[in-house]
Amino acid sequence: MIPQEFQYRRATSIDEAISLLKESGDEGKFLAGGHSLVPLMKLRLSEPGVLIDISRIPQLSGITEKDGTIQIGAGVTHAEVASSDLVRRLCPVVSECAAEIGDPQVRNRGTLGGSLAHADPAADYPAVMVALNAEVHIKGPGGWRAVKSGDFFQDLFTVDLAEDEIIAAVQFRPARNAAYAKLHQRASHYALVGVAAVLEMEGRTCRSASIGITGATGHAQHLANVESALSGKELTPETIAAAARIAADDLEEVNVDLHASEEYRRDMVRVFTKRAVEQAASR
Ligand SMILES: Cc1cc2nc3c(=O)[nH]c(=O)nc-3n(C[C@H](O)[C@H](O)[C@H](O)COP(=O)(O)OP(=O)(O)OC[C@H]3O[C@@H](n4cnc5c(N)ncnc54)[C@H](O)[C@@H]3O)c2cc1C
Repeated sequence: MIPQEFQYRRATSIDEAISLLKESGDEGKFLAGGHSLVPLMKLRLSEPGVLIDISRIPQLSGITEKDGTIQIGAGVTHAEVASSDLVRRLCPVVSECAAEIGDPQVRNRGTLGGSLAHADPAADYPAVMVALNAEVHIKGPGGWRAVKSGDFFQDLFTVDLAEDEIIAAVQFRPARNAAYAKLHQRASHYALVGVAAVLEMEGRTCRSASIGITGATGHAQHLANVESALSGKELTPETIAAAARIAADDLEEVNVDLHASEEYRRDMVRVFTKRAVEQAASR
């Protein structure tokens, strides 16, 4: 299908992107890697009159270490995250997650910011960012603000981001005992279910657990009951199995589509929670 006609503008800074969006009235939309927006435009599910290309804004690029945290620019591609020495060394779960997104074409164009803004219920990064308690740094006409990932994802394709705001970067404390396990849809690689586990370990004891889930419900979220079941416990095969058994209990409105029934997805939530926690604990 052919999208409706649109104007193309290219921004060279965050502030220029925001003012170009303002100039476009209701018609403007940011274009990053285009791997979610362009397919929607071709189906005419999205019909922006003005595309504002933000893919060459230097402020949105780069992966840096700062005060014990990692900051990744919103414009950084999945391939750059997957191959980053810094991320692989300090927080391998993020690189591993990026390496499992789509195929090489998608990874070479798609961006972290685009993935978070789009908030596809089956996207991978959201689960990992929720588990890491990452902060999403946002700029709008009113200035800067930061939102915790757990609050950022609100509903199906709905996030805490106003029409005139731009995601600039994501910041998180690196975690060693962390893993992402997903059951992927064979053709697209999107997560039918994806679970990210971030554990704070002291010997075999889990001091605290943060678990993020994607694919199973309308938006990425914490699995609070699993977090409570693991925190303060010695992680034995039995405690991990017991926590995984309850992983789907509190989930409301589980996704149903041609790839998986509700029952199957609930079962996979239990299976992949167990795998993610086991893997995170063994690191
Ligand atoms: C065949 C295929 C397979 C895929 N498989 C997977 C997969 O396995 N796992 C997965 O997670 N994803 C998958 N994706 C999605 C892919 O990761 C996209 O790249 C990503 O979801 C969107 O990033 P983008 O940079 O392409 O954003 P775009 O398509 O350019 O933009 C998406 C939306 O976000 C907005 N936006 C973009 N950047 C910003 C920003 N910085 N601030 C504010 N708003 C912004 C845009 O205005 C638009 O509304 C797949 C896509 C395709 C086409």
